[in-house]
Amino acid sequence: MADHIAKFNSLLIRSKVGMHQPKAPIKSRRCRAFTLIELLVVIAIIALLMAILVPVLRSAREQGQRVVCLSNLKQLTLAWIMYAEENDGNLGNGRAGVNSIFWGPPWVDLNYFSVPDPNKPDSRGALWAYIRDVGVYRCPRARGIPKQPVTYAIVCAANGDSPDETRESFFKSKRIGRTMLWLRKLSDIVSPSPGQRMIFIDYGQSPSHAFQVCYDYPAWNLGGIPLVDHNRGITLSMADGHVEHWKWRGAETMDLINAKLPDGSFNSMGFEPRTEDGLYDLQRLQKATWGRIGYTLGW
Ligand SMILES: [Zn+2]
Repeated sequence: MADHIAKFNSLLIRSKVGMHQPKAPIKSRRCRAFTLIELLVVIAIIALLMAILVPVLRSAREQGQRVVCLSNLKQLTLAWIMYAEENDGNLGNGRAGVNSIFWGPPWVDLNYFSVPDPNKPDSRGALWAYIRDVGVYRCPRARGIPKQPVTYAIVCAANGDSPDETRESFFKSKRIGRTMLWLRKLSDIVSPSPGQRMIFIDYGQSPSHAFQVCYDYPAWNLGGIPLVDHNRGITLSMADGHVEHWKWRGAETMDLINAKLPDGSFNSMGFEPRTEDGLYDLQRLQKATWGRIGYTLGW
């Protein structure tokens, strides 16, 4: 009998425990659920992390693209040097897509580049024989039409369409001191040294002829605004084959790059800088192109 009572008590205790068991999960479920404030805090933390990480990722992406762009510029410039060395020191035609008896075959033939004709011999331009990779002709950061096959340009001073004020005659370059303005041969590059004369620039779009830079006027030429933003700057190469990244100083220069053309500063010569920083950006480009500044400021 005593055994039966003990078993009954034991069952009673278990059933009591069992009766209380469902309450515990309900209580803990309530504890684990997010309150509205907790949810808002989590959302705020995620937003904060995104605000920190997105610019970092964007910057890392731009840095990667810049490395590829600088590598492209270097390969193009080394090809440009090799072409000249194999042609008695004569520079290749700096005018993209323009074939000429006087200038020779263009460094890049844009027509063939866009639509290769299988019935014609490969004619992607004079430098193709040294490059043989279409990826080298295009900056990965190029904006605009995604299919633009070429985004680099040669500056007009490097056997391009040089303005009249930089020549003695149609055929003859002007020399000022030891500085040859319009370069036709490697041996023309004396002062400043080849490491300071610009050859290629990332133009950001397919070039029409050469990259235009004014010589005797403090203005940006409409055909000489690089429409690419490499961390608020540009990428370019020098005649000795090294490459550089320049940061713009002037806010107005960035406006030009972003195609926000300033009001009231455009005349027939182009866009004139309005600040010291903007003028510094322009003159740095002019000096690298022509070897010197061709004007004195009257203001
Ligand atoms: Zn680039």
